[in-house]
Amino acid sequence: MLEPMVEATPAGWWYSSSIPDGRAIAIYFTDADLREGETLSETWARALMETSLSRSRLGEEARAWRPRGIDAGTQSLGGPPALGCVAVGDAALALDPLSSSGLTRAIEGGKMAALALHRAGGGDLGALARYESELGSALREHQAGKARYYGLETRFLDEPFWQRRHALRAPIARILSPKDELCWGLEDAAVLPLASLTPDIPVSILRDLAEKPCSARCLAETLRSLYQYDDTEIVQLLHALVHSRSLRVLGGGWGA
Ligand SMILES: Cc1cc2nc3c(=O)[nH]c(=O)nc-3n(C[C@H](O)[C@H](O)[C@H](O)COP(=O)(O)OP(=O)(O)OC[C@H]3O[C@@H](n4cnc5c(N)ncnc54)[C@H](O)[C@@H]3O)c2cc1C
Repeated sequence: MLEPMVEATPAGWWYSSSIPDGRAIAIYFTDADLREGETLSETWARALMETSLSRSRLGEEARAWRPRGIDAGTQSLGGPPALGCVAVGDAALALDPLSSSGLTRAIEGGKMAALALHRAGGGDLGALARYESELGSALREHQAGKARYYGLETRFLDEPFWQRRHALRAPIARILSPKDELCWGLEDAAVLPLASLTPDIPVSILRDLAEKPCSARCLAETLRSLYQYDDTEIVQLLHALVHSRSLRVLGGGWGA
């Protein structure tokens, strides 16, 4: 029997375990854009060779297992769904699998949504808005925990997969000034990982807001008016976006 185990590798991390019928399962988590044109099977075999513990416990034959690709990114509906619907579980908020909390949160979310609907049916007009706000708090709590846990891995600081996940708690070389001019700095191909950094703010909105140079103050105020972020969260988010090169700071010695 294999106890559940997680192993970090340069471009992602592995999970392996036995399941109740005695078979072993393994999952490799990476960013889709880091696969460089490989087929799923090629990525699987290459990434397994980059492990030491997972490879030895699964056996060399695991290289020939046929993997299936699934999107496991953190995402949020980011607001109420269509009129007459309440989103629950992954439909409302999908969490990073490293948190191992998607199932419990989905069950708890189901209870919360049922209670909110019951209260709304009894005339409590704020019940559904409070449910949405609880989801927003859960997402922010999750993001903070996610940054903390990914931050514990420090062997692969030069690797894009880990750089992206360290961005939210990167040491700030220089504090952004409200007057700093910011501009969108990413090619469209690179936005996929960014979506996991800001799951409740669609990347298209960030791109539209910063497509033309704007001051950090102006961008912060617009984001604050659109989303339920406090000042600290906004500043942290802007620094993370700069660190991940999603936003460029024009002039002022920040480099390219
Ligand atoms: C690779 C991976 C590993 C994970 N590991 C963990 C873990 O270790 N621990 C943990 O707690 N969570 C983990 N999660 C997250 C967890 O699986 C989800 O958070 C959880 O399953 C969400 O439950 P849900 O009911 O919202 O959605 P789901 O479990 O996805 O259920 C939705 C159901 O709706 C069905 N459906 C979709 N569309 C329709 C339609 N139009 N009509 C009818 N049916 C439809 C789907 O087939 C599915 O059965 C992991 C997720 C992934 C992707």
